[in-house]
Amino acid sequence: MSAATLDDLAPVEADEPGDVDGSEPEPILDLSQVRKTYSTGTIEVEALRGIDLVVPEGDYVAIMGPSGSGKSTLMHILGCLDIPTSGTYRLAGVDVGVMDEEELADVRNRRIGFVFQQFNLLATLTAQRNVELPLVYARVPRAERRRRATEALERVGLGDRLDHRPTELSGGQQQRVSVARALVTDPDLILADEPTGNLDTASTLDVLSLFAELHEQGRTVVLITHEREVAKQAARTVLIRDGHLYHSHEEEVAGTEALATLESGAEPDPASRVPLWEHGADEPEEDRP
Ligand code: ADP
Ligand code: MG
Repeated sequence: MSAATLDDLAPVEADEPGDVDGSEPEPILDLSQVRKTYSTGTIEVEALRGIDLVVPEGDYVAIMGPSGSGKSTLMHILGCLDIPTSGTYRLAGVDVGVMDEEELADVRNRRIGFVFQQFNLLATLTAQRNVELPLVYARVPRAERRRRATEALERVGLGDRLDHRPTELSGGQQQRVSVARALVTDPDLILADEPTGNLDTASTLDVLSLFAELHEQGRTVVLITHEREVAKQAARTVLIRDGHLYHSHEEEVAGTEALATLESGAEPDPASRVPLWEHGADEPEEDRP
């Protein structure tokens, strides 16, 4: 891998779909000063330390950072699986902080399609049944569920694997089933956390080309990864390190330095960023293969 420069990360200009009346459409994701602190006993871990992020509809953004930097924490918040300790998160213009459990579950189910590193498929169910699950939760009638699951699996090239169980599929095929499951509810947003982390190169390319296709069709995709080669597939990349986001188009010195540090694999300057272990945190766990 050649040495990276800021230019490598220059954001692709997003299309500006402005409304008929000329007003800007609401961004699909809008985070302002989002913080997340985990309290376990006497130890507090500041996993997110003031995240500002705006993602317009139809964007394809990669969030890239090393293990322990706060990626999964951010994904959980974006996906309404967890709530910020402070700060505001607006999803399609609605403040998630004021929603109750039921509303959050509804948003998760209708607006967001999740893809995880571990696929999270149910071993006893066929591909088709796995893809149907979100529709079961949404109380879609059975015949329509079948039809939509079949369509989603055809879209990811698995129309001939409907009755296969996860163990009868390769890793790449299993991940394509989980992309189909993410798509089947026709969500506004696809959220993927290390979706290629368990895949070989060919399957990685396969899954990334599916995301590219979804983006071309106007979906919003947020792809979380620690791999630069994977992040490069997105329209733009933001970096996360120690719970801070660095937007590549920002000229500020801190961002540039952090980027250089991130790329060199060295530890950040302790004078500017307090390392997590000074808060008494454990070394972050590696994502398991
Ligand atoms: P990544 O996905 O980038 O590897 P995470 O978001 O999983 O990072 O973790 C960020 C930091 O928060 C790490 O220091 C991790 O140990 C800590 N952390 C994550 N989840 C919890 C939790 N449930 N309780 C306490 N600390 C946590
Ligand atoms: Mg993670």
